[in-house]
Amino acid sequence: MFSPRNIAILGSTGSIGTQALDVISRFPDRFAAEVLTAHSNVDLLIRQAKTFRPSHVVIGDPKHYPTLKEALAGTGINIHAGDEALADIMTLESIDMVLTACVGFAGLRPTIRAIQSGKPIALANKETLVVAGEMITALAAKHGVEIIPVDSEHSALFQCLAGEAGNPVEKILLTASGGPFRGYSYEKLQQVTPAQALKHPNWDMGAKITIDSASMMNKGLEVIEARWLFNLTVEQIEVVVHPQSIIHSMVQFEDGSIKAQMGLPDMRLPIQYALAYPQRLKNPFPRFQFANYPAFTFETVDTKVFKNLALAFQVLEKGGNAPCLLNAANEETNRLFRENRISFTRIADLNEAALECADFVANPSLSDLLASDAAARKWVNQQFETK
Ligand code: NAD
Ligand code: MG
Repeated sequence: MFSPRNIAILGSTGSIGTQALDVISRFPDRFAAEVLTAHSNVDLLIRQAKTFRPSHVVIGDPKHYPTLKEALAGTGINIHAGDEALADIMTLESIDMVLTACVGFAGLRPTIRAIQSGKPIALANKETLVVAGEMITALAAKHGVEIIPVDSEHSALFQCLAGEAGNPVEKILLTASGGPFRGYSYEKLQQVTPAQALKHPNWDMGAKITIDSASMMNKGLEVIEARWLFNLTVEQIEVVVHPQSIIHSMVQFEDGSIKAQMGLPDMRLPIQYALAYPQRLKNPFPRFQFANYPAFTFETVDTKVFKNLALAFQVLEKGGNAPCLLNAANEETNRLFRENRISFTRIADLNEAALECADFVANPSLSDLLASDAAARKWVNQQFETK
């Protein structure tokens, strides 16, 4: 028998975090929640801690520390607060694997600490690879740490590549659902509301990634994520719209053969695959039925309408701190749109303009990335305030 794999979840209260706990609860002899963390949802963190009995919990926002401490008094659970603690906890000896399920740039520092401590990473937090792909992959190689993708497309690619060591990839076909505004003209896109954008046709996700999916920024971030996970050139990455979201992505090899990974859109599958890797565990999740899907269809993306996808390819070509600037600008424009303060099409317009807001740094250090992130955020907010 195996002893359970001790998992630390960075962002246990989010969409990925709660689904990961669902997976963990189904396989108590395989997984244990060793560390749970959240930014501000203290009530859910308390409930999760009482159910899963981790050895440590961390709340990012220190104002919730007293509530957390009081609610968990007498449980023996160690309680911490603040951004430093979120990163420090990753070094804990008893952690076997870290699931990075927090949203945004905030995942960068804890992920670096986890890799430096030799912890395998189940990576959902794509922004970390977008911002610092070169640094993170080099660090992982140095520490002999495996990064196993959780993002459904990248999990699909990872699964397609299993058993293919030594067979070069000709290209990857990253599938996209197209989101709620697939086929919209630019004029129609200008009118859409946050409520419309928050309704994704196939996936139930956190607010930030749902807006990113509607604006195609999510696919852009995933292009960059794929470049670093699988060591690809820009030319080797193609995006294909597949509205049914059953083919989660494909790899084309040098003989022209294409392998696809398929399944119902259910994030518990790629989460489970990453946590149990390299094993597949038997589960009772619903199975795909061909009879329910008489047709799979494919389209291309109009990047003149969905400009964010073109911007992602552009910053990937440029390299250096350019992807970091795009990511930071987008975290702000995404939020401003959700708060109903800018129009939908302004997300991409401001993202594009923000790329010029700071000096280009070809080989950014961590402090360069922190500075670039701050500069782009500040610039977006200034633009917005002066209008
Ligand atoms: P979410 O908004 O539902 O949850 C985010 C989690 O991160 C919460 O637990 C929150 O407490 C925590 N968090 C937020 N800000 C933080 C900060 N500053 N410091 C530390 N923790 C913080 O988001 P989600 O949809 O679960 O997405 C999480 C990550 O996974 C994102 O990077 C997203 O792109 C990626 N992802 C999500 C899905 C999905 O289906 N939800 C699919 C693929 C990839
Ligand atoms: Mg995805």
